[in-house]
Amino acid sequence: MTALETTLADLSRHYAEVHTRKEDLFWSTKMGLAEDMAAARQSYTGAEQAWHAFLQDPARLAALRQLEPEAAAAPDSQRRVLEGWIAMLSAHVIESPEGRRLSAELVELEGELDRQRRAMPLGYVDPATGRLERASSVQLALMLRSDPDEARRKAAFEGLASIEGYVLGHGFLDIVKKRNQLARSLGHQDYYAWRVAVVERMTKQRLFGLLDELAQSTREPMRRELDRFAARHGERAREPWNFSYLRLGKSTQALDPYLRFAPALERWLASFHALGVRLRGATLTLDLVDRPGKYENGFMHGPGVAFFERGTWQPARINFSANAVVGQVGAGMQATRTLFHEGGHAAHFSNILSDAPCFAQEFAPTSVAYAETQSMFLDSLLEDGEWLLRYATDAGGAAPSLELLETRIREEQPFRGWDVRAMLTVPLAERALYELADDELSPDRVLESFREIERDLQGLTRAARPVLAVPHLLSGESSAYYHGYVLAEMAVQQTRRFFLARDGFITDNPRVGPELATAYWAPGNAATFDHTLQSLTGTPLSARALLERCNASTDAALASTRERIERLKGVPRRTDPVDLNGSIVVIHGREHVTSTTEHGYAGAARAFSDWIERLERDAVQTRALV
Ligand SMILES: [Zn+2]
Repeated sequence: MTALETTLADLSRHYAEVHTRKEDLFWSTKMGLAEDMAAARQSYTGAEQAWHAFLQDPARLAALRQLEPEAAAAPDSQRRVLEGWIAMLSAHVIESPEGRRLSAELVELEGELDRQRRAMPLGYVDPATGRLERASSVQLALMLRSDPDEARRKAAFEGLASIEGYVLGHGFLDIVKKRNQLARSLGHQDYYAWRVAVVERMTKQRLFGLLDELAQSTREPMRRELDRFAARHGERAREPWNFSYLRLGKSTQALDPYLRFAPALERWLASFHALGVRLRGATLTLDLVDRPGKYENGFMHGPGVAFFERGTWQPARINFSANAVVGQVGAGMQATRTLFHEGGHAAHFSNILSDAPCFAQEFAPTSVAYAETQSMFLDSLLEDGEWLLRYATDAGGAAPSLELLETRIREEQPFRGWDVRAMLTVPLAERALYELADDELSPDRVLESFREIERDLQGLTRAARPVLAVPHLLSGESSAYYHGYVLAEMAVQQTRRFFLARDGFITDNPRVGPELATAYWAPGNAATFDHTLQSLTGTPLSARALLERCNASTDAALASTRERIERLKGVPRRTDPVDLNGSIVVIHGREHVTSTTEHGYAGAARAFSDWIERLERDAVQTRALV
């Protein structure tokens, strides 16, 4: 082996080691799997520090840069791998000592704000008693959407909004100033510009060009819909604590019996199989049911990064989690969506064909927008009437009626544009925040600027969710990042439009999996997001398809669904045995539920269904006892 080959092989081995160790401990601590949790958490912290130390080491990056002249004469494949490592380390290393000092100070300040925020006495003032009732932000958000009592919804909103004043009074603006100082010391215009350049490899100008276009072109249609809505429900419909509640449709509840939990695994496997999605030997471990002590957010992480290690394929090892509450309305829908969304991430990370783990790990320089496009595209199928008709049957085997599917479209289509604008509120407010001069960064000025953006985007008296109550803005990892979801939504619609225009259908379209695998998945972060979109759809990222979808009339949305339903009638259901070329393992904490290696795909799906039905019976019994 040449010196270059040896260096690259060592780098892959060393990275895979620190990555896998960190991720295995991440999973066992988040899922509560270890016998001694305190020890496990401590080991996790150590493993995470080792991972950071690997990626943030300026000496490692400098040494790799020194190899570039030698690599110029080496085979293409080796040069690409070297560039991949340089790109990955560049996304994490801060090269100047001044920048490293500021970055270390920020870690301290962010840690302190996080501690303060957790210690905050969050809750709502009960209008009946005048007492503060403690509630988490998740509980407050749920109350805001679903409590039938307006005074209580208003109290929940005020509880959420109190996060803003609290974080502004506990050091958030010092963090904002220091983030800008750090970014400027590295030669960027401001913090947002720096993060976009590093994470999305895009200029701030291009990013906001796309977002501003989306905001501009959805403004008038949204105003018209809101006026209609206010005419029907009264002007109070424009209060943030009334809007989401009044909008809440009946169809979600009515669809619930068709999206049961027990058959969720079988439907997901059958649907991915029919799409031609394959996992290249990957092992997927799923922990879907909520329990005390389990991490409160669904996620996918990949402890085993897939790559060709000196020519030998190392399949991916991927875990994902959800918090479905057995027996609760919506649990089946949530589990199904997790399987499609996180399963979409898993399909992506199982199919990256590269010679080094730097291209196939889920952290920077893997773009958030690129990664979310894969998962959001696959979970978008669940919105489709044709998917529901084919896969979502009730316990008696009946599919939902056409009327129910149409009611759903009538409820949702008018506010599709509003939903996108609600997402856009976060990045547009964050842009404004980092563009304020240091002497303007006072709590009043910041809130004034946020309120203006919220009113403009959402057309309500205030945003349905106060901007600073969105936790992404606070932590270093997820700040200046939310635009990723908006870009992904653009790409999802662009991809859907491509398949629909060419083939007329997406559900059970056997070309979808293989074509996504080639154009979107195989290159990993070696290709830019634009490049992947271009190679499948023929155009770089654009807001057009999303705009068309948002601004379509309800009649047009109904017509397109009817057309797709008709089209799918001509597509026979796959009858060959399901095979995703992977292993699916279902666990519930330390309990092993089933796996496809033991029972095959059909057997595992049956075992899963039996297990869920047993939990459902237990849940009913427990309720009957109390
Ligand atoms: Zn995701």
